[in-house]
Amino acid sequence: MHELSLCNSIQQVVNRAAGDRTVTVVHLRLGRLRQVVPDTLRYCWDLVTADSPLAGSELAIESVAVSARCNACAAGTTIADTLVLLCCECGSPDLELLTGEEFLITTLDLADSGADLG
Ligand SMILES: [Zn+2]
Repeated sequence: MHELSLCNSIQQVVNRAAGDRTVTVVHLRLGRLRQVVPDTLRYCWDLVTADSPLAGSELAIESVAVSARCNACAAGTTIADTLVLLCCECGSPDLELLTGEEFLITTLDLADSGADLG
């Protein structure tokens, strides 16, 4: 499953960043183009971390909408249907994506203090 391998990757990054400290919440930015279902990702996170020091930690997922700039008419557009990437103004497929492909751990909440990964 796609989400399981993502959770394994997240776990590796979090373990490296947190060291011996206890992580309570992992903040994640997730672009809609990633086609990841947040509920499924959280479910897999519980499975992947069950027997690890990260057991009981929470994934806080911020869903990022898909936005783009149109190279044909220069309109900025937010795309609702991620299966059809077309400019809302002129219908051109010649888009420069601005957001929507994020898969980024932004911050860890720790039991004692915070660690900002930038
Ligand atoms: Zn356009």
